[in-house]
Amino acid sequence: MRQHMVVANWKMNGSRGAVGHLLRGLNSSMQSPRCDVILAPGYLHIDQVSRELTLTGVSLAGQNCSEYSDGPYTGEVSAKMLADSGCKWVILGHSERRQYHGETNEVIASKIELACSENLGVIYCVGETITQRDSGDAQSVVREQLLTALNSSINEESRIVIAYEPVWAIGTGLTASPNEAQIMHSYIRENLRSIEAINAEDTVILYGGSVNAVNANDFFSQVDIDGVLVGGASLDAEAFCRIVDMATLKREN
Ligand code: PEP
Repeated sequence: MRQHMVVANWKMNGSRGAVGHLLRGLNSSMQSPRCDVILAPGYLHIDQVSRELTLTGVSLAGQNCSEYSDGPYTGEVSAKMLADSGCKWVILGHSERRQYHGETNEVIASKIELACSENLGVIYCVGETITQRDSGDAQSVVREQLLTALNSSINEESRIVIAYEPVWAIGTGLTASPNEAQIMHSYIRENLRSIEAINAEDTVILYGGSVNAVNANDFFSQVDIDGVLVGGASLDAEAFCRIVDMATLKREN
């Protein structure tokens, strides 16, 4: 059975003070979660989160890593550094990386390979722009993202989670309808079946894009949606804890 998962992507937000405040909220409002909960703070806050988070069963993720293993790449953070800092996961292929940093599926494949070699689980983000959706290309874009980045980079030991995040839904307040998301999740699972190193039935597929404490449950009710990746709403401890509670309930029903 697939474990349910909720991932918080804090993006480039916060300060030590703000992170401390958020952690105090999470420590006091979240019971030890009975689904997988992953927090992705900014790099500089990873250590603070490790020290100040008192909850058990919550893991840490980097929001990105370098496509190179180490060496003269000023400003970059390697997969090895993330693992060494206590991260168990890394988010790769986020649309903000694709859009603002020109990351291609090929570059992301290199990052996935390095992350897996450091035993980091990979949360691999895929999703189409509004132009691609309007021109009927959403599925082919997502298929290309999946096959190009995963086929060459993983093996049976790799821990891969897919996050379907329609670009037009990220940070906009718009969401795919639960049914639209379910159709894409089912299509993603179908495509995962063609990747030899992946067990498609066991692979967790998350939905992301303006998920909040009000709409999360609608996504959890879909059979191929195993959890959510939350950006903006994850900066509010109370809202995030409510989403985690909903994921737990889905697991128990
Ligand atoms: C994200 O950053 O992956 C995301 C889904 O953001 P938001 O929830 O703010 O749309």
